[in-house]
Amino acid sequence: MSVVVIGAGQAGFQLAASLREAGYEEPITLVGDEPVLPYQRPPLSKAYLKGEVGVDHLELRPAAFFADHRIGLAHGRVVAVDRAARRVTLEGDGKLPYGHLVFATGARNRVLPVPGAELDGVFYLRTLAEADAVRAVLPAAGRVVVIGAGFIGLEFAAVARKLGHEVVVVEAAPRVLGRALGGVMSDFFAGEHRAMGSTLMLGAGVARLVGEGGRVVAVETAEGERVAADLVVVGIGVVPNVELAAAAGLSVDNGIAVDARLLTEDPEISAIGDVASYPSRHADNVRVRLESVQNAADQGRCVAARLTGRAHDYTAVPWFWSDQADLKLQMVGLSRPGDAEVVRGDPASRRFSVFRFREERLVAIESVNRPADHMLGRRLLTGIPSLTPAQAGDEGFDLKSLLA
Ligand code: FAD
Repeated sequence: MSVVVIGAGQAGFQLAASLREAGYEEPITLVGDEPVLPYQRPPLSKAYLKGEVGVDHLELRPAAFFADHRIGLAHGRVVAVDRAARRVTLEGDGKLPYGHLVFATGARNRVLPVPGAELDGVFYLRTLAEADAVRAVLPAAGRVVVIGAGFIGLEFAAVARKLGHEVVVVEAAPRVLGRALGGVMSDFFAGEHRAMGSTLMLGAGVARLVGEGGRVVAVETAEGERVAADLVVVGIGVVPNVELAAAAGLSVDNGIAVDARLLTEDPEISAIGDVASYPSRHADNVRVRLESVQNAADQGRCVAARLTGRAHDYTAVPWFWSDQADLKLQMVGLSRPGDAEVVRGDPASRRFSVFRFREERLVAIESVNRPADHMLGRRLLTGIPSLTPAQAGDEGFDLKSLLA
């Protein structure tokens, strides 16, 4: 049974590599619409942006790997899926039959919905091409405005400050990283970015971008405040690439809807990575759609296991990291607004963790420069953790004793 994967990113690559690792012998084709080898995105807003590493460092494997493992790489865009005939149509009208089809189409940038968003000097940061475009203009941009204080916006802000640019971050929500983190960690990061020299404008919606001669010169907030800009980077989240699946009649629910085994309602079609919405054991079996390397890679592994006769539910503990200046933020588990926060360690030491509890049950850990807490959390959250809030907050309590 041939496997066709739409999307040659982190998830698609991992699926193909894991299939071969498991001894799968049938044809595998990765169809990707970016004109490069499959690559990892995290360095695009970190080391690659700073110029510390080149493209070769981003590639998930060199070209020879794909040839050696008989993984076909087709550069192009899939424009239609015919489920009855079990084949996909590529742009230009080429057809590719499949035995099993996997959507690994990822997500695309949410476009800033205000006048002036199309001006020159406005950039996004998702693809290698976009990172290259930012890298090319950044040295000449004295004043940088970042719209959105999410992970990508703040990682970029930290790099831009390090390179000596003036940085203003404009965020509509009242706090930074508000979608992912509790108040303690969020306040800590706001303080750190201010200490780096960035100006944070929180609770400030963007009304429009102001241009001169077709080029952005300022960002105007809803309050009418103007912030001068030579360069604007927009990081306001992503939209999952579900249209192809929806057109093929598959269910969509904030992502392509799959079951606990990552299968759509069509037994010959799976979905993985940023585009997949699945019921998570770590979210009380509510559907979630995660945007992380861990999730993309582990879901690729899970589907590879199913296709090679070792089907199991996808239950991997979600984890994520973000590097901002010398701060390594790591998160494990899934928290919700309202989950209690118990701090372990002293935030002033820039090395501490926040344990998140829901009804006295540990659900997530957010750590800064404390990888041991994170690693322990990954093990604790695999089962049903017995850690109490009092133990979490007590530095004298040995967390490792819970693993014995
Ligand atoms: P993608 O990597 O987006 O790959 C999907 C691919 O499918 C894309 O190449 C897309 O162009 C292609 N495609 C879509 N539609 C079609 C079509 N019709 N035909 C052909 N091809 C198609 N995660 C972390 O855990 N830690 C980090 O520090 C971190 N940093 C990040 C920094 C940046 C700048 C970005 C953008 C992301 C970061 N992430 C990070 C998130 C992580 O990179 C993503 O979660 C991961 O790449 C998702 O993998 P994916 O394969 O699902 O999607």
